[in-house]
Amino acid sequence: FFVLGVETSCDDTCAAVLLSDGTVLSEAKASQTDLHEGYGGVVPNLAKGAHEAAIGPVIARALADAGVAAAELGAVAATVGPGLEICLRVGARAARGIAAEHGLPFAAVHHLEAHILMSRLPPAAEVTFPFLALLVSGGHCQLLRCGGLGRCEVVGGTLDDSLGEAYDKVARMLGLPVGGGGGPAVEELALEGDHRNVKLPVPMQQRKDCDFSFAGLKNAFRMANGRARELRGVGEGEELPRLDRADLAASFQWSAVRHLEQRVGRAMGRCEEEGAGIDRLVVVGGVAANAAVRGALERLCGERGWQFSAPEPRLCTDNGVMAAWAGIEKLRAGVSDDAGADEVFARYPFARPREEGPL
Ligand code: ATP
Ligand code: FE
Repeated sequence: FFVLGVETSCDDTCAAVLLSDGTVLSEAKASQTDLHEGYGGVVPNLAKGAHEAAIGPVIARALADAGVAAAELGAVAATVGPGLEICLRVGARAARGIAAEHGLPFAAVHHLEAHILMSRLPPAAEVTFPFLALLVSGGHCQLLRCGGLGRCEVVGGTLDDSLGEAYDKVARMLGLPVGGGGGPAVEELALEGDHRNVKLPVPMQQRKDCDFSFAGLKNAFRMANGRARELRGVGEGEELPRLDRADLAASFQWSAVRHLEQRVGRAMGRCEEEGAGIDRLVVVGGVAANAAVRGALERLCGERGWQFSAPEPRLCTDNGVMAAWAGIEKLRAGVSDDAGADEVFARYPFARPREEGPL
C-alpha cells in the first residue's frame, strides 16, 4: 500500500510517498533557505507562516509525482516531535486531516527515531536490531544502543553543541553559504586544505566516557581564524585567501572526526566488553552525509570487525521519506496512533537514559 509521510519539525516543509515495502515513489520539499537569512537562526513565526503556505502544495506535489490520489493511500505518517511546536503542528494537522478524512491509519513519528530508522530503509535489509547508533545532526550528537522500535538507550551525548551546529558556525566564520546548513560548504572547502597547517585540539582527550563536546573546538577555531586574519592583515568585511580558509576548514573537520572516532570507539569497546551482541554501527542525521565522517567511521568498523551503515547521503538531512519510512516501521510493528488527536511535542523523549538499566 501507499504511505504519505509529512515532516515540518524545523525549516523545511517535506512530504514523500513510499510503497509499504520502502520503495520511494516521490519526494517534495520547500526550503526556507532565504527566509531566515540575517536573523542568525530560524525565526519560529516566520517558519510557521512559510510551512502554512507550503504544506498544501508540497503534499499535493508528492501525491501527484507518485501518481497517487489521497483516497488511494493506505496510511499517513507525520513527525509530531521534537521540534518547534508551531511548525510541527502545521504538518501534523495536515497529515492527520488526510488520515481522518479517508479513514486511514496514522503513525505519529519521532524525528530522531526517524533519522535512526533511515539506516534500515530498503535495500538495507541487513540492518537488523540491535545496533549502536551515532546520531549527528543539527540539534543532536548522541550515541544510542538501539534494541528495537522505541527501544533505544542513550550511552553518550553532547555536553554543549551539536556537530551540525559547529559546522554551521564554522561556515559562517569562513564566509561560506549557510543556507540549508553550512556543513556541505565546509566539507567541500576542507578538501582543498591540509589539516596539518593549523593545529586545533581534539576535544575531551582526558575524559574516558562516551560524551561529546564541540564548544571548545569551536572556540579554538575562532581564535585560529582570528590569528590567521591578523597575520595576513585581513580587514573587516574581507575574506582570508581561499587556501588559508581551506586549511582551517580541514583542521576543524579533522579534529571533529577524530573526536567522533574516539568516542564511538569507546562505545564499541563497551558493547564488546558487556557481550551486548552488538556488532553494527549506524551513522545517521545531517552530518552523516559527510564523506570524511563516513569514511573514518567505516574504517574504524573495519578495523574492529564491526558492520557499518549509513543512509544514502542525500537522505541524511531532514526529508519526507524519513517520516513515511518510520511510519511504515511503526505500522508493521502493529503500532498506530490517533489521527483525531492534535498534540505535538516540543520535547519528546524516546530514548531512555542509561541509568534505567539495560533493554
Ligand atoms: P535534529 O535532527 O537534531 O532535530 P535538524 O533536523 O535541524 O536537527 P538535520 O537536518 O538532521 O538537522 O541536519 C542538518 C545539519 O547537518 C546542519 O547542521 C548541516 O550543516 C549538517 N550537514 C549537512 N550536510 C553536511 C555535510 N556534508 N557535512 C557536515 N555537516 C552537514
Ligand atoms: Fe533532523
